[in-house]
Amino acid sequence: MQKHNQKEHLYKLLVIGDLGVGKTSIIKRYVHQNFSPHYRATIGVDFALKVLSWDAETVVRLQLWDIAGQERFGNMTRVYYREAMGAFIVFDITRPATFEAVTKWKEDLDSKLVLPNGKPVPAVLLANKCDQGIDVLMNNGIKMDQFCKENGFVGWFETSAKENININEASRCLVKHIIASE
Ligand code: GDP
Ligand code: MG
Repeated sequence: MQKHNQKEHLYKLLVIGDLGVGKTSIIKRYVHQNFSPHYRATIGVDFALKVLSWDAETVVRLQLWDIAGQERFGNMTRVYYREAMGAFIVFDITRPATFEAVTKWKEDLDSKLVLPNGKPVPAVLLANKCDQGIDVLMNNGIKMDQFCKENGFVGWFETSAKENININEASRCLVKHIIASE
């Protein structure tokens, strides 16, 4: 039952990053609590809704926007970005090229979308497939905290859609920053 004094927020969140990094898998895990190694690449944009009881007074509805197909071009249209309140940028921890693409995705996002207050939208970086035991970041001595500071990410997480690692935590981090920036 909705309480009389309950606040509701609806946030559009983008999930972007190169093909095959696990965007769809992360959303399926987060929203439907499952994982399959064989998702069909649907073409177009897909939505999923996740409802969070944020605290005693607040319900947060997250509308997660998946993309399929267009990510091969490394950029999205303004229509896709419009009115988003936050973003996850995902790379595959086993494939260095997908990490190199992260700054390009971040630039694409920031060049096409700013919040009503003129600030960039909060973005969280997801280093996905951490269950694979291959860490290109460590191997290349990349300091993630430093990288996030330099590139304007509010945080980063090693995630696994397969093993359900850190996806809830990453989402809470993003929502916390969205609420704080409102
Ligand atoms: P998308 O193109 O970014 O949407 O990526 P998908 O979600 O379709 O995932 C691409 C492939 O990576 C699929 O075979 C997934 O099963 C696999 N995958 C996704 N997330 C993980 C993960 O956390 N761990 C492992 N081992 N495989 C994953
Ligand atoms: Mg996909």
